[in-house]
Amino acid sequence: MRRREFLQWAAAVSAGSVATPALMARQEKSPPRKEAQRKNVLVIGAGISGLAAAQRLVSDFGLDGPHQVIVLEGRNRVGGRMHTDTSLGAAVDLGANWIDGSANNPITALASQFGATTTNTNYDSLDLFDTDGTPISSTKVNQTWPLFLSARNSVLSYRNGLGVDQSMAQSFLDTNAGAGLSALDQRILEWWIYWEYETDWTTSTSDLSTFHFDMGSGFPGVDRILVDGYSQIPEGVAQGLDVRLDHCVEEIDFQRDQVRVHTNRGTFVADACLVTVPLGVLKADLVSFRPGLPMPLQNAIQQMGFGSAFKIAFEFPNAFWNQNRHFLHYMSPQPTDHTFWLNIAQYSGVPILNTWVNHDYGASLEAMSLNDATDRVMQDLKIMYGAGIPDPIGTVTSNWNTSQFSQGSYSTPDVGSSPADFDAFLEPVDEKLYFAGEHTSSLYPATVHGAYLSGRDAAARLMGVPSFFATAPRASGRVRVSR
Ligand SMILES: Cc1cc2nc3c(=O)[nH]c(=O)nc-3n(C[C@H](O)[C@H](O)[C@H](O)COP(=O)(O)OP(=O)(O)OC[C@H]3O[C@@H](n4cnc5c(N)ncnc54)[C@H](O)[C@@H]3O)c2cc1C
Repeated sequence: MRRREFLQWAAAVSAGSVATPALMARQEKSPPRKEAQRKNVLVIGAGISGLAAAQRLVSDFGLDGPHQVIVLEGRNRVGGRMHTDTSLGAAVDLGANWIDGSANNPITALASQFGATTTNTNYDSLDLFDTDGTPISSTKVNQTWPLFLSARNSVLSYRNGLGVDQSMAQSFLDTNAGAGLSALDQRILEWWIYWEYETDWTTSTSDLSTFHFDMGSGFPGVDRILVDGYSQIPEGVAQGLDVRLDHCVEEIDFQRDQVRVHTNRGTFVADACLVTVPLGVLKADLVSFRPGLPMPLQNAIQQMGFGSAFKIAFEFPNAFWNQNRHFLHYMSPQPTDHTFWLNIAQYSGVPILNTWVNHDYGASLEAMSLNDATDRVMQDLKIMYGAGIPDPIGTVTSNWNTSQFSQGSYSTPDVGSSPADFDAFLEPVDEKLYFAGEHTSSLYPATVHGAYLSGRDAAARLMGVPSFFATAPRASGRVRVSR
């Protein structure tokens, strides 16, 4: 996923409609450390939100006694949806790829703290290919951008008069997006919509809410890639924490004074439990809660969407594409099957393309055998670059959709859901159960920084410090666009 520059960012900040870094810093800088606090806390999940929460409980709130804060993680690694594969000739991120909006972003600060090298991404640096493989000129790409802006603006006006939420796909239909355009311009407009919304949220515009597709806020500045991989961040934050890997949580029982957490390796007991498993895991009921969760939370879990994304990276013996481009794009005859490649050669010099596909197409590729998925993606590359291109000499894939520890990519504002569903997770349950994770941040949903800040915020709530997330002013109608 990629987050972009925000056309309306400057306007929104000056209007005071979004949470500014200064506002956030107020909570960050003044955690009332309770030295005498002798709480025991179990954090479920060693993704960035769980690690951030544990780190804050230990370092800022003094829960630093032996085993006072234990992180239980089902996988055999930390990082969750931040995962770098190093088996090819360069680092390949199979989950999160970018520091989305690198200025004032807390992840930028962590990257520099851990000595991680980063590089800028330019979303305009792309080669776009038509369905039959014909390259589309950059002049044409630029000319069609205003068509996208106009279609998007029509939906923004249209939704003001809309009584009931509906899908973005329906709203584009209702506003006659693309009417009167040539067939090529219509295809490119559809591709822009795919690139701006379906890739960003890893879901279909048929599911995406017209009211809330632009929910949330962001940080300014260019998006940056960690050259040696995103895993450096969670691995750095995990240093010194009591993280128990291969501990799969099956049930969280909070009926008594203390919380009992049942795992495949026995039961753990604590005063409070901070749950950071992904929304997909909650939706699939893979962790049971005893007694059940309150109805508002159950409703939120049901209503919110959870996207799907699949990555398959290929290392080739040589680069047969333009090595200077940041992205390659193919417009499939099936608009749901568009594909893009991050050109890792551009910043590493190693001929690797990291393929990204979304939603049903992504899920279907993930369900295929490695050979079949490779053949399918190679078909598109052959249309673009000719049948003579070399076969890959190395391949790696993600498994976010099928993994019991994620069950998809990240949360999405589907029709019928709203930012209030994300906020429902800010309420503690029985003063014992707290939630964090990207899906608990209506301010910065679906991002690494959102997850990180949600963990820090949940740690504060658990220690009785007012929630920054609950009180921060919300952006209204922020528009996420790439140029
Ligand atoms: C393909 C993809 C691309 C993305 N690109 C970007 C990007 O470019 N920029 C960006 O900012 N964000 C991106 N994101 C989103 C970002 O990765 C997430 O928002 C963030 O990493 C979520 O962190 P988290 O702590 O909320 O959840 P997770 O990282 O999922 O952590 C939850 C942890 O809980 C563990 N767990 C689950 N079930 C159990 C259980 N039963 N018992 C014990 N442990 C369990 C999991 O193993 C996991 O470690 C991307 C995500 C994906 C999937």
